[in-house]
Amino acid sequence: MCFEVATMASSVCLEIITTSAAGEESDTQFLISTGNSKWEKQEKISAIKSNKWELVDYDSLPEFLKHNEFIHDHYRSEWPLKQTICSVFSLHNETLNIWTHLIGFFIFLILTTHAASIFPVAASNPSLSPQSHSGNSSNILTPLSSPTNNSSGLGAASPPEQLLISRWPFYLYLSGVMFCLLMSSACHLLCCHSAATCYLTLRLDYAGISALIVSSFYPLVYYTFYCLPFFRNLYLCSITLFGAAAIAATLSPAFESPRFRAARSVLFACMGASGLVPIAHKMVAFGDRPEAVLSTGYEVLMGVFYGIGVVVYSARIPERWLPGKFDIAGHSHQLFHVLVIAGAYTHYLASVVYLEWREAEGC
Ligand SMILES: [Zn+2]
Repeated sequence: MCFEVATMASSVCLEIITTSAAGEESDTQFLISTGNSKWEKQEKISAIKSNKWELVDYDSLPEFLKHNEFIHDHYRSEWPLKQTICSVFSLHNETLNIWTHLIGFFIFLILTTHAASIFPVAASNPSLSPQSHSGNSSNILTPLSSPTNNSSGLGAASPPEQLLISRWPFYLYLSGVMFCLLMSSACHLLCCHSAATCYLTLRLDYAGISALIVSSFYPLVYYTFYCLPFFRNLYLCSITLFGAAAIAATLSPAFESPRFRAARSVLFACMGASGLVPIAHKMVAFGDRPEAVLSTGYEVLMGVFYGIGVVVYSARIPERWLPGKFDIAGHSHQLFHVLVIAGAYTHYLASVVYLEWREAEGC
């Protein structure tokens, strides 16, 4: 079915490219005014007339598209918007960057749908606070019809009744993941269109990364410290302010410069690494609980995936070693994307453990 949808969409895009040539005068004028040389202008005009948009090499790129000198060829450069959008179905050096996170988005959409059938959002009740739980037990023990009442499989006691625990932190995390993956795909698809589009989509991409990191803290902190509201609020406020500062920093025009690649990595890595504090606190406070040990195992695995991803992204491995050999497939950004999805999935597994733990135990 997906293949049929892709084929139909490809046909529509092909038709758009074919039928839009007559209406490309404005694009032609734009290209005439912005081309770097007479030869380049003639090349682009002939491309418009022949309905064919060529991929170019690194040296032909405008400055705003020069992000990785180790990828030599197969670039789209300042394509019209229609052709840029339709290039989601053609082969160039961003194709796998787009699809790795687009497929990841649909994986998490399916996971969210699946989770909603197990942990219905309607069952959550944000008005219930830890204080109200501990203050009046007659109001807090509410049987749930969920088929997973006893599904933690962690050796925890299976109470006859289950606590009504807010589930919004769990779904906030899933929303953060999907927002990040969707913004990333959009950025990789659209950035080549123009400097203004690139500027906008890169900011959305960085905002998505910040959203992913910040939202990752919510299930961890909210459920682990559900009965310790001081620490729960302290950690949640800290990471939320950190994330807001990171988004503000990413709004700086200088932030997108290639020379700030390492700074970007360090900023996001520090945000992620700050999660070590509540995780260490969890092990000190609840280290004898199997849920705490299992969730920490997932968090460590997540850290390994993200850590390798940051190193690969910053060092631009493996294209650094064989420039031009990984233009289409296998370059660092694609590996980084796959590692991000792997890390996000392990944190999803940890989040399920946190939620089931707290729903089974309460305070
Ligand atoms: Zn990316």
